[in-house]
Amino acid sequence: MSEKYDVVVIGAGPGGYVAAIRAAQLGLNTLCIEKWVSAEDKLVLGGTCLNTGCIPSKALLASSHKYVEVRDEMAVHGIQVNAPKIDVAAMLARKDKIVTQLTGGIAGLFKANGVNVAEGLGKVLVGKRVEITAKDGTVTVVDADNIIIAAGSVPIDIPPAPVDNDTIIDSTGALELTEVPKRLGVIGAGVIGLELGSVWGRLGSEVVIIEALDEFLPTIDKQIAKEAHKIFTKKQGMDIRLSARVTGTKVDAKKKQVTVSYTDSDGDKEIVVDKLIVAVGRKPYTEQLLAGDSGVTLDERGFIFVNGKCQTDAPGVYAIGDVVRGPMLAHKASEEGVMVAERIAGKKTQINYDCIPGIIYTHPEVASVGMTEEQLVADGIPYKTGVFPFAASGRAMAANDTGGMVKMIAHEETDRILGCHIIGPSAADLVQQIVIAMEFGSSAEDIALTVFGHPTLSEAVHEAALAVGGHAIHIANKKPRKPKAKK
Ligand code: FAD
Ligand code: NAD
Repeated sequence: MSEKYDVVVIGAGPGGYVAAIRAAQLGLNTLCIEKWVSAEDKLVLGGTCLNTGCIPSKALLASSHKYVEVRDEMAVHGIQVNAPKIDVAAMLARKDKIVTQLTGGIAGLFKANGVNVAEGLGKVLVGKRVEITAKDGTVTVVDADNIIIAAGSVPIDIPPAPVDNDTIIDSTGALELTEVPKRLGVIGAGVIGLELGSVWGRLGSEVVIIEALDEFLPTIDKQIAKEAHKIFTKKQGMDIRLSARVTGTKVDAKKKQVTVSYTDSDGDKEIVVDKLIVAVGRKPYTEQLLAGDSGVTLDERGFIFVNGKCQTDAPGVYAIGDVVRGPMLAHKASEEGVMVAERIAGKKTQINYDCIPGIIYTHPEVASVGMTEEQLVADGIPYKTGVFPFAASGRAMAANDTGGMVKMIAHEETDRILGCHIIGPSAADLVQQIVIAMEFGSSAEDIALTVFGHPTLSEAVHEAALAVGGHAIHIANKKPRKPKAKK
């Protein structure tokens, strides 16, 4: 007889490992299956996020930002320094150490919570059974009352720029470059293109980003996207070419460079770069995951089809994270993991999909939650906005970090906050205040009436809320509201 578990989780990324821990915390006998093994043949937990995504990219963003601070931003403080030198090997070693520490931490958390782990490829069979194929080809089958699929995603390839993991690389390769390329091309001005383009651009690469769309960051609020474009191109020297479609690449192995051909409104063009990062999005990973008769279905874009509670078409089988619809974000994956584990345990947990923050970890950071002005216009929802620039923030000035603004949007009649969009220092952490406020159905006035510490960057959030009501203190209000005359 095969072993039986209350919950079998496939994948140990931020969706799967969180689901497994929460299920075990709730007393469910849980097994988590992971196929990722390291070059040293050791099981790797943590998925894309910890190994080749969020964490290593943020480690390199932190290192490269420090480099820029030392190179460009000390003199203003009266600190004299010699031109810094970057030791790329040391920077990568630091990143790798953080990754090892965190992935090892998950193994510890699994142990502490009593999560069982199986190394191998998990496949969903009909009747809530899961086949596990180990590295050596051994196959076992386990039974489950519930299955949670958290198989994640992989980079999208495009035929004109096939990744060779040498000259043409994907995001994983871009985290491993052993020297700073003199000329760096990036296909795709999305989150990865901007973050990893920033890392190497800060360290000295001449960065050219080729983007197919005619609009920069089309899904974020236009005012914020415009400001981001201005800062990245004019202040930071990123060369972002919009409406540019890559038609081909030619690698010259001898010269260790690649010619990238593309077409824009002026016709056919070429650039020659030393490394080319392909960052045109990611796709759900479902290879060898589902038996033909598993009952789990895919949507037209290849994502596992689920409802709002992450239930697939097969009873007792759930799917979460990058492998299902919605933003490909670690925190979205984790919250779905918690929701599913708790619902399996009989709780009524839900996710508010309207309150998932999105962040681009450039400097300044770009962070948003809720609806953009453009979405509200399209939906015919009446709204009012309040904007506060960091140039007017005492704390930002003290830190010599005044680029960007906070923009708050509230319903015209009810004053309920509908969205908040920030470009600026610590935007990722600032926007979280409004995520919490929105979860509690807060009005802009609620934020305006809250006491904020001084001097803090958070005061910019406070002032944006005051500006929604037309009474910001530290900037001139656009349309001051006149008190109604007494009759
Ligand atoms: P994954 O993390 O992809 O994990 C899936 C796991 O399942 C993998 O370990 C895989 O090996 C395993 N698996 C797959 N199939 C099987 C199978 N059949 N059997 C056994 N195991 C299997 N998101 C953010 O929120 N913030 C960020 O700052 C951020 N930065 C990023 C930077 C980069 C460069 C990249 C590439 C991504 C970044 N992301 C970020 C996105 C984030 O990494 C993903 O949204 C997140 O990892 C998705 O989690 P997941 O658990 O769904 O999938
Ligand atoms: P993305 O969707 O953010 O950006 C891809 C960009 O490539 C888009 O602007 C798209 O128009 C462009 N593009 C597509 N095909 C093209 C082509 N042929 N030529 C030129 N441009 C083309 O995707 P990404 O940057 O690859 O990131 C993948 C996922 O990883 C995202 O969904 C994101 O959520 C996640 N991620 C998140 C973070 C974060 O939260 N900070 C960081 C990195 C990655």
